Amino acid sequence: MSMRWEGIERYTSKKLDRDLEIAEMDETYLAKASGLKYYPLAIVRAKGSKVWDADGNEYVDFLASAAVYNVGHNHPRVIEALKSQIDMYLNYSMAYFYVEPPARLAKLLTGLTPGEFEKKVTFGFSGSDSVDSSIKAARAFTKRKHVLSFRGSYHGMTYGALSATGIIDPKVKRAIFPIEEVHFVEYPDPYRNPWGIDGYEDPSELSNRALDVAEKKIRELDGNIAGLIIEPIQGDAGVIVPPLEFMEGLRELTNEYGIVFIDEEVQTGMGRTGRWWGIEHFGVVPDIVASAKALGGGMPISAVVGRAEIMDSVPLPLFVFTHLGHALGASAAIATIEVIKEEKLVESSRKLGDSVIKRLKEMQEKYGIIGDVRGKGLLVGVDIVKDQKSKLPDRVTALKVCWRALEKGLILITFGKYGNVLRLAPPLNIPEEELEGGMDIIEESIKDVLAGKVPDGVVGFIKGW
Ligand code: PMP
Repeated sequence: MSMRWEGIERYTSKKLDRDLEIAEMDETYLAKASGLKYYPLAIVRAKGSKVWDADGNEYVDFLASAAVYNVGHNHPRVIEALKSQIDMYLNYSMAYFYVEPPARLAKLLTGLTPGEFEKKVTFGFSGSDSVDSSIKAARAFTKRKHVLSFRGSYHGMTYGALSATGIIDPKVKRAIFPIEEVHFVEYPDPYRNPWGIDGYEDPSELSNRALDVAEKKIRELDGNIAGLIIEPIQGDAGVIVPPLEFMEGLRELTNEYGIVFIDEEVQTGMGRTGRWWGIEHFGVVPDIVASAKALGGGMPISAVVGRAEIMDSVPLPLFVFTHLGHALGASAAIATIEVIKEEKLVESSRKLGDSVIKRLKEMQEKYGIIGDVRGKGLLVGVDIVKDQKSKLPDRVTALKVCWRALEKGLILITFGKYGNVLRLAPPLNIPEEELEGGMDIIEESIKDVLAGKVPDGVVGFIKGW
């Protein structure tokens, strides 16, 4: 057994022999910064909202591989699109000749994103590179250097994206010397904010405070800012939904100072929040939309869709990657978009999300460790606290709830600025009985943790956020 999980059998009744063999190989050969594992679980099969591990244990998946499987695992339409593409050719570099699937996908995306203006698209493979490309476009178009980003934001791990990420401790980031022209301002968190404002009661007050801070920073830099990058709902920060008027205010500010508004939809896009794009909740039209994760239905593809004049301000060859717009990823993305439309998954996300939030709010009345329940559609966070009055984040309890849930057959992890938020992001087409079953497991796990059935020792095994 790997040293990493040695002694774990004391904490679980599950058979995990083959899982542990795979875990050992991973822990031995993968660089340690490559993962923060929650459980010695190695997935070998997946279908819809269920997955199976190497020892045959079955789980309902409330993580969807980090909000990737909006259409569910191995959706038959996605698989069919991939198979038919594989039978023709895998890909040919679109850097040098023409490839149909990415061209078709680009056309589709220009119609799917907000804004009735001419748009152009470029592609990559990850959320991180979509952020890098967005920043390139903003800088090339404005001929300015600085970028405005938000505390708590997660934009990825490539150089530009990591530099623009607010949630990673600056001391940790310093190890790789991030680019310096990124400035962080406060994202208006209604539940916990530096001003002690109850943002649910007084959203305007919260919004005004945060807008003042942003404007002050812009002035400090003499307006010399290329782009503002924002998640319309902060995901990894623990599902932070800002006040409606905040986004409108930001759009006005960016217009006034000629700053490119980059709408970072890597986690919130593709129907996840009950709209195609998270920004649509706010009625604001961005200049650039960055998408990845769910876009490829499980294949690694990202897209940046922006105003044509901004996207075309980037000189050749600065968007060229050998595999850009890979035909397999692009075919899968086209199928994914069709599935979301035909199965009306944007609507399902809204409807199922409302039912999840309702059930969680009922749980909040019963269990003092649930401080806040928030989200839109099926991007939902449950803030676990020491008690509802102090709002003190309780990461250890949150991790114990996840551990118990995993033991009971539910894939559930934490995230958030304090690592104490339960992350609910199942496939948007999860059958209602599986969703309810998962919610039952969460409630049972909370009860078990409160009854002292999960020892603290288990937390030592979990890396986690
Ligand atoms: N942006 C957001 C909002 C994300 O949630 C993530 C991934 N958690 C990323 C960017 C980075 O995406 P990737 O890991 O695919 O590079």
